[in-house]
Amino acid sequence: MPDTHMPAGIDQEPFSRADGARVGPNAVIQTAEALEALEGEGATAVIFGAAGLAHYLASPPASMVAESEAARLHHAVFAHLPPDRARAASAEAGRRTGDYILAHRLPGPVQHILKLLPPKLSAKILMKAIEKHAWTFAGSGQMTGRAGAPCVIEIANNPLATPDCPWHSAVFERLFQELVTPRARVTSTACCHRGDPVCRFVITLDGRRAS
Ligand SMILES: [Zn+2]
Repeated sequence: MPDTHMPAGIDQEPFSRADGARVGPNAVIQTAEALEALEGEGATAVIFGAAGLAHYLASPPASMVAESEAARLHHAVFAHLPPDRARAASAEAGRRTGDYILAHRLPGPVQHILKLLPPKLSAKILMKAIEKHAWTFAGSGQMTGRAGAPCVIEIANNPLATPDCPWHSAVFERLFQELVTPRARVTSTACCHRGDPVCRFVITLDGRRAS
């Protein structure tokens, strides 16, 4: 259900492809929130400044952002923080993006039905919804999804790839845990950032992580 009063996000159609691929503004907004919560305002300003995006701290983006901007920001997090803290901040940004999607982009009745269905069925429906809105997290990357045991999401040429993609993993885990089963676990098993042809996210529904 489109909501014109909210910042652009999962329900909006792709546009402005001619001037470069775009991703949802939450890739920027929730990164600012997560960094401020975990690393403080000073570190957040340094990281946004390094990415050339200091203006977004004063005035958060209200619509889609260039994927190159989101990519610079996600890389700057890893360039400026020790690896474990970069992973934590990136994952927190992903969880907050999942929270935003749950609060604003998925109608309550749909969420209610998904929670009532057996996990295998709700996983299938959620996977279709994620595929339909893939451009919001994948930009110019090509996403494919397979529901099953386990569910698998792949993004080829992922423009927002960081080491093992904690942001994407956390977005998917938040959605699957809330709408399919609290036992859902997402594991990155391949990553464009280390030269693999795709980022692969394996989603198990039984509480055990994929190896
Ligand atoms: Zn990746």
